[in-house]
Amino acid sequence: GPPRRTVEVRARPLPDGALVVTEDVTEARRVEAMRRDFVANLSHELKTPVGAIGLLAETLLAEPDPEVAERLAERVVNESFRVSRTIDDLLELSRIEAGADAVQEAVPVHLVLEEAADRLRPAAEQRGIDLRVEEVSPRVRALGDRRQLVSAVANLLDNAIKYSDPSTAVELRARADGDRVSIDIEDHGLGIPARDLERVFERFYRVDRARSRETGGTGLGLAIVRHVVANHEGEVTVESVEGEGSTFTIAVPAGPGPHPVSDVAESRP
Ligand code: ADP
Repeated sequence: GPPRRTVEVRARPLPDGALVVTEDVTEARRVEAMRRDFVANLSHELKTPVGAIGLLAETLLAEPDPEVAERLAERVVNESFRVSRTIDDLLELSRIEAGADAVQEAVPVHLVLEEAADRLRPAAEQRGIDLRVEEVSPRVRALGDRRQLVSAVANLLDNAIKYSDPSTAVELRARADGDRVSIDIEDHGLGIPARDLERVFERFYRVDRARSRETGGTGLGLAIVRHVVANHEGEVTVESVEGEGSTFTIAVPAGPGPHPVSDVAESRP
């Protein structure tokens, strides 16, 4: 017979009981599908470590050898950290997505770089990575939410460190660019294959699941970055060469206050 055509409608009752029927539901359907995917992915992300914790703990209960038991216990601890990191990132993502507590103020960018670098310095040292933070004039200011900007830069730094080999450098730079401020996070690490570049900002997307797991990634870092940038009506771009490294650049509106260009005038004798 003829192909069946399904038309979806969304019906919303009005206070007086009348019905408004909206036929344009493609957007609603897309959002609903995304929500379903997200819940499915999240369930999987949590089920894996929670399942492992259960199995490890059961084995641990029956393990007579204290050395083996200790190793099992360490794995229980690691898996439980993983669950809390995922939940922390999820809460942060949903806070940022809601944008309820976001403020708009002039944020000195050098403070954003320093705060993010301070957070990640222990991780860099642990991996033998040389973390270089360019000196940026206090006059360079972004317009936006300091906490969110630090969170975005810290997430990008975290990745730069995680996906680099020891004894390479990770560089953090910022510059005023007309009415925008740009922040670069450059690494000389693994790089991202061209075919994956467009997808890395999706929640839970990873180029290499095993590597991300090994390094403790939650798959939510770049989703957080994307939302911070969207809240600032900014842009995030990435340039990457597999095997050579990546540069992520965040561009957000410049804040009010002394224009960076005035630096030039003031530096005259
Ligand atoms: P994760 O927690 O897995 O790091 P992210 O959302 O932060 O999740 O990043 C998504 C994926 O993008 C990572 O799993 C990794 O494969 C890739 N990626 C992100 N940043 C880099 C980088 N600087 N170098 C190489 N690969 C990266």
